[in-house]
Amino acid sequence: MKVNDVPIEPLPYDRFAEVLPPERFREFEAAVVKGREAFEGRIVWNVNSTARGGGVAEMLRSLIARARGAGIDARWVVISGGADFFSVTKRIHNHLHGSKGDGGGLGAEEKAIYEQTLEPNASELSEKVRPGDVVLLHDPQTAGLASALLERGAVVIWRCHVGVDVPNRLAQDAWRFLIPYIRDVDAYVFSRQAFEWEGLDRSRVSVIPPSIDAFSPKNQDMSPDQVNAILSAAGVTQVGSDAEPVYSLVDGSTARCTRKVVYRDGGESPPADCRIVLQVSRWDRLKDPLGVMQGFVDGIADDDVHLIVAGPSVEAVADDPEGAQVLEEVYQAWSELPASARDRVHLAMIPMDDGDENAAIVNAMQRRADVVVQKSLAEGFGLTVAEAMWKGRAVVASRIGGIQDQIEDGKTGLLVDDPTDLDEYGSDVKALLDDPDRAEQMGAAARDRVRDNFLGPRHLIQYQKLMSALLERKS
Ligand code: UDP
Repeated sequence: MKVNDVPIEPLPYDRFAEVLPPERFREFEAAVVKGREAFEGRIVWNVNSTARGGGVAEMLRSLIARARGAGIDARWVVISGGADFFSVTKRIHNHLHGSKGDGGGLGAEEKAIYEQTLEPNASELSEKVRPGDVVLLHDPQTAGLASALLERGAVVIWRCHVGVDVPNRLAQDAWRFLIPYIRDVDAYVFSRQAFEWEGLDRSRVSVIPPSIDAFSPKNQDMSPDQVNAILSAAGVTQVGSDAEPVYSLVDGSTARCTRKVVYRDGGESPPADCRIVLQVSRWDRLKDPLGVMQGFVDGIADDDVHLIVAGPSVEAVADDPEGAQVLEEVYQAWSELPASARDRVHLAMIPMDDGDENAAIVNAMQRRADVVVQKSLAEGFGLTVAEAMWKGRAVVASRIGGIQDQIEDGKTGLLVDDPTDLDEYGSDVKALLDDPDRAEQMGAAARDRVRDNFLGPRHLIQYQKLMSALLERKS
């Protein structure tokens, strides 16, 4: 068995009426009606290479559930491959980001591994997919399936979730590797205009940015009591709470937060009433945790302002040795800070045993923060930015990748022009801390921006329009 179905229970699409203005919800309903007509008797397949972990899997789970709830037969299948295949595709992924990854190339050997893995996946998938179905292939891992599915008579779209603003030779190498596989697909989808490749037929390119799930444990609304209860139960701050540390799962049931955040620095958790600056990311040098810490220490002297640099518990992520290494580098730098600064800087490892609980803790932390930062050096989209904006937070983030599509500088957050400029970053954070009214206004505008641009309905409307147009053209 090469290709595995990921079962997805339908979720009611009309729940979006709770968060969208009426006219936006009507627009979504109209797209649902059109989609039902266009996809009548067809299956809309989504194909990727993992059912768990990462932003793409998270997005698929929520978009497919809502599409199914809207009466569309959307399905999700995951291809399989061995370690050699995934090291080739990880290399392609890194190259598409403009970075060299493990340093290896993309030559004949890699091509052979890639094709040998995809061949049995393609034949199994071709038995499932019927002529007239629509197939959305996600990311480099699935590009090599396109020709078999086109031959089968399906409408095939290839969606690339990664990219770089200014392509370098590495990115171009990856394009050269992939283009022969996707030359004939019906459409290409990129997350932002700048990620589009040279050498593709531009008339077939669409830009569809990612989205977040407003109702997931990561982004669902939480009352201040609930936030405090979760922060208290997870030991994030010293706040006490009598309330139950509970959150909702997507099926509507309730779960309880029982695990604790571990502070790698070994110090006390931040006091209950301090102001908090927060960055939540994987432990990755491209998220610049060292710069986040140094810029904070240099730029913000107020005793009552604490920084939390948070990421997943690295013990749990055994397959990410780099994460553990980066956390140790951050810890090392932390231990060299003056004692007064060390008291105000905290390195949080969020438990990963249960993805929903991890998400609920991130949610509560983002809601508690006075300023959320994302000082990345490279970023495809930056889901953490949309997540914080949706929670009405004032965000300071680097002017790179998809972050620029989310934050309008000075209105829905602050963009740091040069992500390596620690002074600019520090003074932007300080400006928002010093002017809570401005921060609050910015947060409110940020929530509206996400509501209008980065929730599931916008994403689904764009898919519906694109797929309907392709079906019409092909019929
Ligand atoms: N995240 C999380 N727990 C953590 C650290 C990160 O759930 O301990 C989530 C974060 O909330 C976001 C995702 O991981 O949803 C990261 O996506 P983003 O686009 O920001 O960066 P990427 O990791 O894809 O580079």
